[in-house]
Amino acid sequence: MIRIAIVGGGISGLTAAFTLEEQRRAGAVEYILYESSPRFGGVLRTERIHGCIVEAGPDSFITEKPWAADLCRTIDLGDKLIGSNDADRKTYILVRGRLIPMPDGLMFMVPTKILSTGLSPLFSWSTKLRMAQELFHSPRAAQTDESVASLVERHYGAEMVGRLADPLLSGIYGGEAASLSIRAVLPRFAEMERTHGSLGRAMLAARKKVSQPASTSVLPIFTSLKNGMQQLVETLLPRLNSAALVTGTLAHSVKPEAGGWTVAMGSKSEHFDAVILAVPTHAAAELLVTSSPALSAELAAIRYGSSITVALGYDRDVRQSLPPGFGFLVPRSEGKRLLAATFVHNKFPYRAPEDRALLRCFFAGSNAESIWQLSDDAIIAVVRNELQQILGLRAVPLFARVYKWKSAMAQYGVGHLERLDRIERLRQQLPKLALAGNGYRGIGVPDCIRSGSEAVKQILSL
Ligand SMILES: Cc1cc2nc3c(=O)[nH]c(=O)nc-3n(C[C@H](O)[C@H](O)[C@H](O)COP(=O)(O)OP(=O)(O)OC[C@H]3O[C@@H](n4cnc5c(N)ncnc54)[C@H](O)[C@@H]3O)c2cc1C
Repeated sequence: MIRIAIVGGGISGLTAAFTLEEQRRAGAVEYILYESSPRFGGVLRTERIHGCIVEAGPDSFITEKPWAADLCRTIDLGDKLIGSNDADRKTYILVRGRLIPMPDGLMFMVPTKILSTGLSPLFSWSTKLRMAQELFHSPRAAQTDESVASLVERHYGAEMVGRLADPLLSGIYGGEAASLSIRAVLPRFAEMERTHGSLGRAMLAARKKVSQPASTSVLPIFTSLKNGMQQLVETLLPRLNSAALVTGTLAHSVKPEAGGWTVAMGSKSEHFDAVILAVPTHAAAELLVTSSPALSAELAAIRYGSSITVALGYDRDVRQSLPPGFGFLVPRSEGKRLLAATFVHNKFPYRAPEDRALLRCFFAGSNAESIWQLSDDAIIAVVRNELQQILGLRAVPLFARVYKWKSAMAQYGVGHLERLDRIERLRQQLPKLALAGNGYRGIGVPDCIRSGSEAVKQILSL
């Protein structure tokens, strides 16, 4: 019987526990999952307020990455999966105080429809000219990693970075295009440049390859759960060994001993054959600081950003007055603190009654830090003031909630993949240890789920 400690009860740690369940029932494995906070789920948290389903953390996951939806189906949540209302998909960018819709055919930030991009007021004529010239770029194999901003600027110029690349990445990573690694964050772009030169031509070629017969149904871009993301946690928990789930217990060190690991929490410690650290890398770094200072230093060097989401519920009049679409992004040059706002009632079904509007506003990085110390009421005042400037929205919300997430979003800096190689070499020098979570190969929920189940495979095959 192998005894395994899992540290961290977010979706990564819970998936690791679930992956171990079959073997536990067969008597081959025993596990204990330690979570420092009073609840499981980590940043997955949903509240029901005034009939609205309010997501404090992630609101969905991208459909293209299958691991989250696969897990949902495995635990009988298949019929609760919902897709984004892509027919109503429209995202605006704030440019000089005006909301401009992103033109049709922009794939992430790569233009694939010449006419709609050419007519869009989102870009200046010089950027449009760059887009046309970009189609003639020759293949180029970069020797080293670089920032997303540097690659995008080479193809489309600085305006594309400021107006699109940076706001899009802020919305996902809470990070800045100038510091995020192209190889870790958008590996497809680096590959397209290597094979095609032009990102535009590469995108068109890829689209041609996957173009389906008209009868095939198109998958939604985002998937979520009818009752919110926390439904995933609530459905997983009863499928785990309740006696092995420990909340309110902060692990403070893990040390290799007698071929296994001693996990220390408070004044107690317990011995295990293997350990899975399913926590942010800064927490893993602290746990390993005495057992492997080198590994700890590499883990600590992966930067994390803080973020704040603010949910605002309004009545029918506001719902009718808002522009159609999924919401808007705010480039940093606009001088606002808000980075993005989602019109949740439009983006997903079942999130708000017909007579309610639900807005989700997002702050990250230095924008979040600049308001971190304020009271919830003061943060709500900042949000309302900026929504008034951007949308002309003066109405008093029916409810407002602020959720703060300290150092929860990993920022994959330039050189991240090389760092992961060094981490892997150092990890292999230790007894059975696996690392899972959002600090490594993807920060989204599907990647975290994959990382939790891969951590188990790694431990069991050692
Ligand atoms: C505001 C926000 C919005 C997001 N939106 C999306 C989205 O829409 N779609 C998407 O796919 N992804 C989104 N993400 C990213 C995604 O939700 C996270 O990367 C993912 O859920 C992280 O899961 P995790 O289990 O690895 O980490 P966490 O959820 O951070 O869980 C780690 C757990 O470990 C515990 N812990 C830490 N240290 C210790 C210790 N020493 N001992 C015991 N326990 C410890 C913590 O209390 C926590 O519960 C979002 C993230 C945030 C913060």
